[in-house]
Amino acid sequence: MPKAFFVDTSRCTACRGCQIACKEWHDLPATETKQRGSHQNPPELNASTYKLVRFSEHRIDGKVEWFFFPEQCRHCLDAPCKEIADGYVEGAVVQDKKTGAIIYTDLSKQLSEAQCDEITEACPYNVPRRNSGTGMMMKCDMCIDRQQAGLIPMCVKTCPTGTMNFGDREEMLALAEKTLVKVKKDYPRASIVDADDVNVIYLVMDKPELYYEFVTADNSDTGVGKGMTRKNFLAGLTKPAKRIFG
Ligand code: SF4
Ligand code: SF4
Ligand code: SF4
Repeated sequence: MPKAFFVDTSRCTACRGCQIACKEWHDLPATETKQRGSHQNPPELNASTYKLVRFSEHRIDGKVEWFFFPEQCRHCLDAPCKEIADGYVEGAVVQDKKTGAIIYTDLSKQLSEAQCDEITEACPYNVPRRNSGTGMMMKCDMCIDRQQAGLIPMCVKTCPTGTMNFGDREEMLALAEKTLVKVKKDYPRASIVDADDVNVIYLVMDKPELYYEFVTADNSDTGVGKGMTRKNFLAGLTKPAKRIFG
């Protein structure tokens, strides 16, 4: 049965426990950062940061509001990154049949730098990053090794507030709908983001763009053509990606 996350951002305190736990489990090095006037650090995802807690601050109806977004790969049901990679190196990106996880393999080293850039641009959520040292494409792997050992993903295990939830997809969808009804009482503009297309289902308290640019695929340009959002990109994927892109 496919697995999914439900991420209730209304409960997130930005403690960054999930971000650190992800690094620890995957044995990823720290990223050197500097004070930029924001607690968000590092400023962006990178080849050794698969999970990034994003911060944004807005004045809404005369009040200062903070929005926290624990970002990671969405494990798309029909992943554009995989469609592109399949056109170049079969097996560089695979989908685990049991969980639905989208996994980048060692074969991604065979992709050229330009092909890796194309894959990142095709991702509607701007997630994957190339490790310039090894040449591998890197991102969240849904902690597939933990799942195979009967454990839940590290970021879910660590989260102390109930923001991060994980389970069967149907169970997570039901939890998302139930939680939305509650959250809407305080935040009437709250919504569930892209639930039909992804296995990391976010609840946001206000318009997605208040969190950051790539929260929803509806606003994202895939980089393969003006106005080519994820939805119309996917509609065109009836042929191998390589042919579409020449
Ligand atoms: S979010 Fe991006 S990297 Fe993750 S599966 Fe979807 S297209 Fe691929
Ligand atoms: S599922 Fe695992 S790899 Fe993905 S963000 Fe959570 S801890 Fe990191
Ligand atoms: S561990 Fe939970 S509360 Fe802390 S930043 Fe991550 S999602 Fe938010």
